[in-house]
Amino acid sequence: MNQKIKVTFYGGAGSVTGSNYLIETDKMKMLVDCGLFQGTRVSEERNKEPFPYNPASIDALFVTHAHLDHVGRIPKLVKEGFKGEIFSTAPTRDFGKLMLIDSLGVMRKEARKSKEETIYSEDDVDDAMKLWETVDYHNRLQVGDFEINFREAGHILGSAMIEISRGGKKILFSGDLGNPPNPILRDMEKISDIDYLSVESTYGDREHEKSTDTKLKLERAIENTVHEKGVLMIPAFSLERTQKLLFQIDELVENGRIPRVPIFLDSPLAIKATIIYKKYSRYYNDRAKEILRSGDSLFQFPGLKMTLRTDESKQINNVPAPKIIIAGSGMSNGGRIIHHERRYLSDPKNRLLIIGYQASGSLGRRLLEGEKTVKILGETISVRAKVESIHGYSAHPDMNDLFDFVSGSVDTLKKVFVVQGEPKSSLFFVQRLRDHLGVDAIAPKVGDSFILDL
Ligand SMILES: [Zn+2]
Repeated sequence: MNQKIKVTFYGGAGSVTGSNYLIETDKMKMLVDCGLFQGTRVSEERNKEPFPYNPASIDALFVTHAHLDHVGRIPKLVKEGFKGEIFSTAPTRDFGKLMLIDSLGVMRKEARKSKEETIYSEDDVDDAMKLWETVDYHNRLQVGDFEINFREAGHILGSAMIEISRGGKKILFSGDLGNPPNPILRDMEKISDIDYLSVESTYGDREHEKSTDTKLKLERAIENTVHEKGVLMIPAFSLERTQKLLFQIDELVENGRIPRVPIFLDSPLAIKATIIYKKYSRYYNDRAKEILRSGDSLFQFPGLKMTLRTDESKQINNVPAPKIIIAGSGMSNGGRIIHHERRYLSDPKNRLLIIGYQASGSLGRRLLEGEKTVKILGETISVRAKVESIHGYSAHPDMNDLFDFVSGSVDTLKKVFVVQGEPKSSLFFVQRLRDHLGVDAIAPKVGDSFILDL
């Protein structure tokens, strides 16, 4: 049978964020992810634009994982008429609700300043949750003529690659992939029999540090901060990065590798996300499960204080240095970290440790690139604190792991769509795939459509 599907890349094309892929046949329409555009102001405006398709015409939405750039516009989709079913793993549904409510809070603050409306309301989140079903990895779903298989992506807890098959042919959307080995999560699954692949490329042109170097760098940053009686600020992403960080600090504390200092997890979102991490330990890798069985708690150790309430957060100021503050947001474009940055960035004893991807235009990116004067909450700050970064914390694979991932299916791949990266990174990876694997690879632009045999 010669069946066709049409795939259109409506977001996550030519940029890291805004993932949104439409799969159409003459009988039905399905989406993979419905994420927020994040980063510079211009792209934030894009979130307000109407969807380029009729949300009411969509039958199903499959969600790879709960980062905002993959789920952030789901309530808007529902508000504008989507009545189909939403499918994800159980952790993704829990995290998704948490992230959508949290992001609404951030949007409300911004909207108050600009006297504009937020793109969705709490009711829209509730309506979305009513349509949202959970599915376990490898529990194949039948949707129309298609079989949908959620496969381990190893990126954050509950993250999945979405494999859509019909008549023995397969297209796989990688979502975001992990950076193996991960201390808590299982590695991403290998692929071998995929016809069409849509693959992320956040780090399509870069190599990561080894994870052993990562831990050593963290240890050194903590030791140096303690030695200089400074404040170590770590802007952290609430999902995954924070839990990985807590896990490693836990190990350093328990093995006596670092001096005992107060450590604050100053992020309500990260604290709540950590609770969800604890709830779904069945998805951990074997080693993490083993540690749990031995009676150790993965995210709790002497010196750690979780400051959920605002008054608890403010009291961190009264605790004398040395101290460590882990707070969101990860790109310093909001959250409690910016209050700490405003207070502590001007002192050379202090340190800012950047452990994740920083979108161009974000405060985090500007600090990372060495800007010496920044404006935070209306105040001009001279940056004298040391700004350091550790890339090994990335929750994404580097160019070599990505290449190995795609290579697994080289015998069957007819076309590879390289998405979810800045153009430089995506195009570099496209070229590498063409040159070294001889596969037909392309970095689609927003709105590009392709007709595929499937
Ligand atoms: Zn992600």
